[in-house]
Amino acid sequence: MSEIRDLIIVGSGPAGYTAAIYAARANLKPLVIEGVQSGGALMTTTDVENFPGFPDGIMGPELMDAQRKQAERFGAEFITDDATAVELAGDVKSVTVDGVTYRAKAVILATGSAWRPLGVPGEQELLGHGVSSCATCDGFFFRGQHIAVVGGGDSAMEEATFLTKFAASVTIVHRREEFRASKIMAERALKNDKITVAWNSAVDEIIGKDGSVVGARLRNTVTDETRVLDVTGVFVAIGHIPRSELFRGQVEMDGDGYVIVEAPSTRTNVPGVFAAGDLVDHTYRQAITAAGTGCAAALDAERFIASLG
Ligand code: FAD
Repeated sequence: MSEIRDLIIVGSGPAGYTAAIYAARANLKPLVIEGVQSGGALMTTTDVENFPGFPDGIMGPELMDAQRKQAERFGAEFITDDATAVELAGDVKSVTVDGVTYRAKAVILATGSAWRPLGVPGEQELLGHGVSSCATCDGFFFRGQHIAVVGGGDSAMEEATFLTKFAASVTIVHRREEFRASKIMAERALKNDKITVAWNSAVDEIIGKDGSVVGARLRNTVTDETRVLDVTGVFVAIGHIPRSELFRGQVEMDGDGYVIVEAPSTRTNVPGVFAAGDLVDHTYRQAITAAGTGCAAALDAERFIASLG
């Protein structure tokens, strides 16, 4: 049987690494199961301009590398592989990676969420070059441009409205003839002069030229007719999927699969199990908020471990 550690952290985005920094400084010697794609969502982006402390911005991978090094400096250990099984009930929790089981008194879950892609040609190739999943993160780069927001829920309304601060025009592309969004959000978007709606329209392809978006091919879902919308940005806002599959049936989750915590703490319904970052958060979804809850999770875990005596 392996030793019983104080703390295991599953996930290595801003939430996991920040939890690791705090826990390591508290002498908990955390083991971070980083995942195969270590560093989290910011590894897939370029400039991060809204993480405090970097007046000239910082590249996503550079920021994550710095966070990792900071945790390592205080004694965090890392395994760069996916956890394949967890056992969260009871006094001793276990996390299995590549057939090896690690045990701890407390576990922090920080596996983030994935944005739901459209799955059309051009989307992956042009990601970060006109295709985005985060208006708060990337809106600023689309000043004066004509852009599209795909989706019909509250997030799409919020993103579209937010993007009018920068864009010359925003076209909301929606498959149906009415929005799924709440009435107030939909009305706010529809009242905005810069926003028009392509109803009954699906994106069939995102068109690129010289590595940048130059248009989106829309298909009318009623008539099947296609046309090209001249846009240089496409924001995909059809939802996020929390990476909580591994924890299903072990910690309480909401209907969308987000782990539920006793806010403002990071405690789940299972003693000794804490959750942070986008795995919990369907509202803010920012690096700094993930880091903030990662910090809280480490402090919550530290207190929990201390209370065990
Ligand atoms: P994540 O960063 O998603 O990290 C989760 C980690 O868990 C990943 O490393 C994953 O590999 C790991 N994991 C998953 N499953 C397992 C498993 N079974 N075992 C072990 N590990 C696992 N935010 C900003 O504030 N500013 C920006 O400019 C910005 N730009 C963005 C650009 C893009 C393209 C994207 C996608 C997001 C951007 N965001 C930005 C949002 C920000 O990246 C997220 O809010 C933040 O990364 C969430 O942090 P997290 O730690 O909760 O999860």
